[in-house]
Amino acid sequence: MTSVALATIGVLVRNSTSRQVGNSRSEAQADMVPYVESLGFGTRLYDEQGTSGSDLARRKVTLRMLDDHRRGEIQGIAALDVKRLTRDQFGIDGGQIAKQLVDLDGILVTFGKTYDLRDEDDLLQFQFQCMLAGIDWRSIRNTFWQGIFKRLEKGPMFVRPPLGYMTEYTPGERPGQLIKRPTQNPDQAAMMAELADAFDSCATLGRVVHRMADAGYARPPTRYRGEVSDHWTVQSLRYILENSIYWGIWEFGGPKRKNGQKRSVVWYKYARDATGNNKVYRFEVPEFAYWTPAKARQWQEKFKTTHDGPVIRERKHSHPLLGTLVCVACGGPMIGAGPDGYVCRHHRTSVCTRPQKLAEHIVCALLRTVLDGALSLAADLAERVERQISVSAPSANALELAHLQERSKELAKTLVWVGGNQDMAEEAGRLQAKIDRLKELVADEETERQASADLLETLERIRHAPLDLFEELSAEQQARVHALLFKSVRIGYEGRAGARRWWLESFESKYGSGTVHVLHPHVARVLPWAASGRLGLPSLRVDPPGVADAVNGFSADSNGQISDYLCSLRELSRALAAAS
Ligand SMILES: [Zn+2]
Repeated sequence: MTSVALATIGVLVRNSTSRQVGNSRSEAQADMVPYVESLGFGTRLYDEQGTSGSDLARRKVTLRMLDDHRRGEIQGIAALDVKRLTRDQFGIDGGQIAKQLVDLDGILVTFGKTYDLRDEDDLLQFQFQCMLAGIDWRSIRNTFWQGIFKRLEKGPMFVRPPLGYMTEYTPGERPGQLIKRPTQNPDQAAMMAELADAFDSCATLGRVVHRMADAGYARPPTRYRGEVSDHWTVQSLRYILENSIYWGIWEFGGPKRKNGQKRSVVWYKYARDATGNNKVYRFEVPEFAYWTPAKARQWQEKFKTTHDGPVIRERKHSHPLLGTLVCVACGGPMIGAGPDGYVCRHHRTSVCTRPQKLAEHIVCALLRTVLDGALSLAADLAERVERQISVSAPSANALELAHLQERSKELAKTLVWVGGNQDMAEEAGRLQAKIDRLKELVADEETERQASADLLETLERIRHAPLDLFEELSAEQQARVHALLFKSVRIGYEGRAGARRWWLESFESKYGSGTVHVLHPHVARVLPWAASGRLGLPSLRVDPPGVADAVNGFSADSNGQISDYLCSLRELSRALAAAS
């Protein structure tokens, strides 16, 4: 014993996650140092805190300790108990450590027991402890998962509630019992509404991030891998856009985890479906929905790109008519200039001989005179789309599902009351698998139906009284609607300064085809003697033409694919609804 008493022992301190650092167990482990020293050994501390590898090859500190032992720098190993030394479910790492200790005549110190592993009794006891540690590990895991799967059969649950949700605790029937129930988080309702609005109106997720920050909504702090994050990221927004819980479908399970890794073996033990695959737990929870499936799909489509690029700052002047106007002199596009103005893109070059300048309110006043026609073209198209959408009666799948569920119930009854044979049990299994597949199909159809119903509502807005909606809009919102309806707008003018007159020369309707030349246009002029109107702009007078048929050349485009227009119809509908 005297030779051993002079030895240095490596003391292994470890915790499974950083969250446990600093708790009482870690302190107890640190107490191992005085304990080992009290036995008459020198010590060297090996701190494995925070690492979580279950595989010895990934336990860097432990490997370093074993290396030091192999080189003779330490003569043994100490840990609070065997459980702390080994951490894989088969106790293999404990065995590896034991083998080296035996080979190199080392000793193993645990609190209350020092093992000399060359001694058969000590080795047996140690191996038994390793096995127990592995079993212990598995049984803790199994108990944990068994509880989770049991709850999953009954309904949705959160391990960690996603943004907008919380776990509500209500007292159960037994005293001291708490029932956990996932629910929407009312404290985050305003934030979720702002988020939905931002998804609607922002062009990129980068902008959504800034919009949320500007609106004063910090992201509720979440802990991920030990780090607390409380700011919005494009990444986290994408996760929200993809997560079906936000449109009322809670789903968990399947063959892979979100990070692509295989699921743990507990799934094979507790959660297999009739075909032997990992179960998918799926619940329809409309009370969880923050938006419709159709909305989600629309946003997923809109933010599809993975290049979110630099965030473009919202400019002070929004220039909603960008891309709508062309210079009457050179035909080039007009760009924004000043708060209410547009100018020929070539105004600084010699390309254009007479670069045109236009004020937004004058353009809008002139476009207003042909708005009716353009809106009715959009309404025609909306009607054609509407006719193609069938919000269908229950599908063949839904009917078959109902039938199979009925049969399955009868079969189950027979099995219970009469007792069945192997064939019947197999039949029941097959039936259940078929039912599960159909359920998925029917749920998809329901999503589809919901999307169609949503679209119908959108089209309705364009088909009925769009002008009334238009009148409700602010000047800028009206300009947006104009931009959605018109392109290649050319405005003619003559006269100088106060005597200037403007009229609509030609334009294209986005829902029509070809260029419309206005033969007998309305003419706008600024009234110099009148007081300034809204926004401090000079009052404008628009005189109707002397001839009745002001506009000709309209023709609805019948060749275009209706689906090409869906997106722009939705946009138009949104723009019209902006005031409400
Ligand atoms: Zn020009």
